[in-house]
Amino acid sequence: VAKAQGRNRFHYFTASMQEAAQARVELINDLRNALCRNQFHLLYQPIVDCASGAVIKAEALIRWHHPERGLISPVDFIPLAEETGLIIDIGNWLFREAAKQARAWRQSHHPDFQISINTSPVQLQPEGIDVQAWGELLNSLDLPGNSIAIEITEGLLMDNGFATRLMEIQELGIEVSLDDFGTGYSSMSYLKKFDIDYLKIDKSFVRNLKAGSSDLALCEAMIVMAHKLDLKVIAEGIETLEQQWLLNSTGCDYGQGYFFARPIPPAEFDHYLTKLDGQALVT
Ligand code: C2E
Ligand code: MG
Ligand code: MG
Ligand code: MG
Repeated sequence: VAKAQGRNRFHYFTASMQEAAQARVELINDLRNALCRNQFHLLYQPIVDCASGAVIKAEALIRWHHPERGLISPVDFIPLAEETGLIIDIGNWLFREAAKQARAWRQSHHPDFQISINTSPVQLQPEGIDVQAWGELLNSLDLPGNSIAIEITEGLLMDNGFATRLMEIQELGIEVSLDDFGTGYSSMSYLKKFDIDYLKIDKSFVRNLKAGSSDLALCEAMIVMAHKLDLKVIAEGIETLEQQWLLNSTGCDYGQGYFFARPIPPAEFDHYLTKLDGQALVT
C-alpha cells in the first residue's frame, strides 16, 4: 500500500512539474509577443530631494499587462526575459519610452528632469545594448545624456566583462545608480574603480528604521561613505514620516517610497508635479 501511495505521489509530483514547465513555456511565448502587442507600460515613481522637497527625478518601473493573467510583476517576468535574451529588446523599448518622457517633463516641469531605468546584466554583455543607437536616439530627441540614469546592481561591477560597456554608456553622459546597495557583494573596491553617481540604499535597511537602531547606524555609515566618494544617496522604500525624518537628519540626499507616492502612470505623475509646483509657489 505504501509503495502504491508512493507511486501515486510520484505521479502527482511529475504531473505538477510538467504543468509548471508547460506554464513556463507558455509564459515565454507570451513574452515574445508582448512587445509588439503593446502589453508593456511604464509607471514612474518620484524621487524627492530631501532638502527642498522638489521632484526632478523619477524611476521608471515596468509593468506587463497579460491579456489572460492580468498584471504580472517584473519580479516574475524579468528573469524569463533575461534567460531568453528578450530583455535586450525590452530594454531598448524602455530606454526610448523613458527618454521621450524625460523630454516631456524637461519641457513641462524642469529642464534638469532625469528618469532612471533599471538595467539587467544581460544588457551590458557584448551582444547587449547598442550604445551608438542609444546615443543617436538621445541626439534625435535633442536630449543630453544626463536626462537618463541607469540603475545597476553591485554584483555586476565585480565582473570585468561589464566594465567596458558601462564606461561606453557613461561616455554618452548617462548617469549610473547602484541599486539595492548593501544587499549584494561586500567588496566595495568597485566604488573607486567606477565613476558612480548615485547609491540607492536598499529598502531592507529602511523598513525597520528607528532612532538608535543598527539599521540607522548602517544608513548613516553608507551616507558618510558615499559623500566622501562624491556620490549622492537615494533611500528606497520610505513609507513613514519617521523614516523620512531620520534619513533627512542623517544627510540623505534623495528619498523614494510610498510615503511620497507609489509608482504611477505618466498622466497621474503630471498631476502630482502640478500639485507640487503649486505648493512651491505658495510657500
Ligand atoms: P527596484 O529597482 O529596487 O525597484 C523598487 C521596487 O520597490 C519597485 O517594485 C517599487 O514599486 C517598490 N517600492 C517603491 N517604494 C516602495 C515602498 O515604499 N515600500 C515597498 N515595500 N516597496 C516600494 P517593482 O516595481 O515591483 O519592481 C521590482 C523590481 O523589478 C525592481 O526593483 C527591479 O529590480 C525590477 N524591475 C522593475 N522594472 C524593471 C525594468 O524596467 N527593467 C528591469 N531590468 N528590471 C525592472
Ligand atoms: Mg531600481
Ligand atoms: Mg532597489
Ligand atoms: Mg560621478
